[in-house]
Amino acid sequence: MTRVGCVPARAAAGWVRHPVLCIVPPYVLSQLARLRDPTLSRLAEAALASLAASERLRGERSALGAVAPLAVTPAGRKHRTVYDAGHGQGLPGTVLRREGDPPSDDVSANEAYDGLGATYDLFSRVYRRNSIDGRGMALDASVHYLRSFNNSFWNGRQMVFGDGDGVIFQRFTQCLEVIGHELTHGITQYEAGLEYSNQPGALNESFSDVFGSLVKQYALGQTAEQADWLIGAGLLGPDVRGVALRSMKDPGTAYDDPRLGKDPQPATMEGYVETEDDNGGVHINSGIPSRAFVLAALAFGGPAWAKAGRIWYVALRDLLGQAADFREAARVTIQLAGDAKQFGKNGAEIVRDAWRAVGVIPPPSVPRAHGASMRIRIVQSGGFAGLRSEHAVDTDKLPPGVGESLAHLVDQATFFSLPARRLSRLPDVIQYRIRVERDGRVHEIRCDAECGEEALLELVDRVLELSGSAGAG
Ligand SMILES: [Zn+2]
Repeated sequence: MTRVGCVPARAAAGWVRHPVLCIVPPYVLSQLARLRDPTLSRLAEAALASLAASERLRGERSALGAVAPLAVTPAGRKHRTVYDAGHGQGLPGTVLRREGDPPSDDVSANEAYDGLGATYDLFSRVYRRNSIDGRGMALDASVHYLRSFNNSFWNGRQMVFGDGDGVIFQRFTQCLEVIGHELTHGITQYEAGLEYSNQPGALNESFSDVFGSLVKQYALGQTAEQADWLIGAGLLGPDVRGVALRSMKDPGTAYDDPRLGKDPQPATMEGYVETEDDNGGVHINSGIPSRAFVLAALAFGGPAWAKAGRIWYVALRDLLGQAADFREAARVTIQLAGDAKQFGKNGAEIVRDAWRAVGVIPPPSVPRAHGASMRIRIVQSGGFAGLRSEHAVDTDKLPPGVGESLAHLVDQATFFSLPARRLSRLPDVIQYRIRVERDGRVHEIRCDAECGEEALLELVDRVLELSGSAGAG
């Protein structure tokens, strides 16, 4: 398997470190824990206990430490075991149902068993993946974790489900997308290894929502159009004002309840939430890339797992690194969608439009009237020798077509929305100060030869080539 952009040490070491990832974000539990109405004290207590348990699990992640590589199981063969945690915190607990056993008397056990199977099937049949780790990892789950536990999570080795408090949250096993969501955290852990904070963390959450929803859609045989695109549909109690925990199609609309608060997800970058809470808003800002996925899936049409799902899966498996941000996800998914044989000749356009609609990449520049000019000035400095040189081009003075190709590179690099600094901070790297003036807009940035912005560096090369050496100064 070709692996690009991943840290080889991670695969080579044969083990991974993993955060404990929960479906219910901490801000929801703390909102519930703050309820002061005495008639709701039981809910507040359950939420507080769930919050404390989730926090304790986070603290225990180093104790869970390393996961030894498991024996390889042949592709296509599931290996599920569902345990009963018996309302305690010891994991995994006693066996309720093993692979091939008839259904148990325990509803949660059967739901967990089927959910693990449905998740395995999507990844195996559609993406030819042999379980979570790609090596046939056994799928273990424990149900009845603690009492009234308002959460479900992947602890790096297995799934854990709470029964919910029965008022705000029902039992967590009944949502197929919740099971798919948690197991996808396992896949992310073995593949891109996205860090669990800020934008990489929100991408981590979003990939789990994407494939969680696809597990459900695949099991139900739904098209993108028919899917509800909800995460945690049916998880909320009957008198809670809301339909789910999150809506991928319409982020921010899943619930609005006096006890639960209002769904805080923004739908576009304009609403991006900068916060220290929730690992930098990983469950909040995930709505932005999730909505981009839904828009792409709807534009492709048909079953979402076939085209959009495949693009996102290959991005997660082969192209994204641990620190990838939204722009990087947009870049690699647009690149993958450019494979016309698989995704049609407008695949890249569909995916680009989706990321554009959520504001991750800027709107297309207005087509320039003939003769509209652009000025680019680049100051090169640094490098081992510490030399400085200046280069400038004026597109009016270039042969026909050349100015357009530069303009194209400026668009491709999304130059006008790049932050003022894209610096790698590596020693002895050549640095550039780039200033572009176009259609009355002026933008200047600093970057260096290792900043990783390919289109931008190509623009630099072209300008240096065209301007010749303007002389060191
Ligand atoms: Zn999650």
